[in-house]
Amino acid sequence: MQKLQEIAADYMQVKNQVYQRYGGIRSLSKLYPGYTIQNEMTKSGLRETLELPSVYFYLAVFDALRDIKSRWSRTKAAVLKRINDNEQMSEEEKHFVRYILKVSNAFESVLNHSPLKLPKELQKQYDLLASGVDVRKLCNYVRRQVRNCHGKLCADTADGFSIAERAYRYADHGIYISVKEKRKRIFVPLTDHNVYTRQLYVRLYPEEKALEIQVPVDIQVKRHEDYTAHVGVSLGMRMMLVTDAGRTYGEEFGAYQEQLSDWIQEQRSIYSKNKEANPGRKKYQAKKHRLEEQLHSYINQELNRFLRTEKPGVVYMPKLPKPGGAGPVKRINHLAGTWQRGYIKNRLELKCREQSIRIVEVFAKGISRECSRCGAEGQCQGELFICSACGYRTDRKANAAGNTRKRGENRS
Ligand SMILES: [Zn+2]
Repeated sequence: MQKLQEIAADYMQVKNQVYQRYGGIRSLSKLYPGYTIQNEMTKSGLRETLELPSVYFYLAVFDALRDIKSRWSRTKAAVLKRINDNEQMSEEEKHFVRYILKVSNAFESVLNHSPLKLPKELQKQYDLLASGVDVRKLCNYVRRQVRNCHGKLCADTADGFSIAERAYRYADHGIYISVKEKRKRIFVPLTDHNVYTRQLYVRLYPEEKALEIQVPVDIQVKRHEDYTAHVGVSLGMRMMLVTDAGRTYGEEFGAYQEQLSDWIQEQRSIYSKNKEANPGRKKYQAKKHRLEEQLHSYINQELNRFLRTEKPGVVYMPKLPKPGGAGPVKRINHLAGTWQRGYIKNRLELKCREQSIRIVEVFAKGISRECSRCGAEGQCQGELFICSACGYRTDRKANAAGNTRKRGENRS
């Protein structure tokens, strides 16, 4: 129980940190689609300080984000109700305020007193609605109502935590749960024989020395009846993703990465030459951020295309080696700083979860040398994999993806 309570306590701390940092008005623009927050939380170092396994850390972040988003929807609904009930407001005024609540750009800019930037069509609508009303008065009204309705979020009881599929395993009439110590799992006997393969919530009852496994019913999750394929994938630094059938996604990924890393190199050398002159870092951060966002939106677009095209029911993905390790990555170390594999993996996991696709991580040792057709050891010549035992020749990455799929299917 103590080991589980440790996780619950850290889980609560992570959630509170996210509430505190992103629950307010200033972070509104970061909530959708949420990569920025995920990245910033990664960089915050909180996970390392707590020594909380990432399998729990990111769930706590997502959990808190979900709470923040629903808190905002509730706030907007409450303000909307006040408007509808307000008899002193004219219909034109109500239209305008409803528009502000509905269009997130407009809502953000009103709350933050920042200049309004809208796409052409929306701007036209805005101008039309704004022409007949006192914009300043109504914006103040919206701000006041939001201040009144928008409560602060805070988690004050550490009574449980969400747990991802890869952090638990059913066996021996019970469940094995990962704890904070590396590679350790604790065993909890269960009173029923239910077996789930999805994210669960572990609710703790320390006084009774008991726990309850709650199965969240997520209505927002999409389910595609026709997504049934089993797909093994291999992730790369040039080609982002290759399937076991040899289909490729993210052809431009290498080029995007190179552009970013070259630019960073160049800026670094300029910076180190002019240290005394102290050239503006703000500009640097802004440009870097922009290049990263471009790369990320490309990654997301290609991952979406992958899921749409392959229609997988299960995705098998190799377990990634620890970052910073020696080995083949060293050769391309100048790129390592911008190598986005953690990002790709997180995004793929999230997208699969949202669409009810199972994602299985597979032990990856020797995956690139083994022949995916006969299992013998083969050779790589450039991008080609050749098996002298059975004569199989294929793309190196497709072969690795084939092994990933094979190992995954044998495991489950
Ligand atoms: Zn072979």
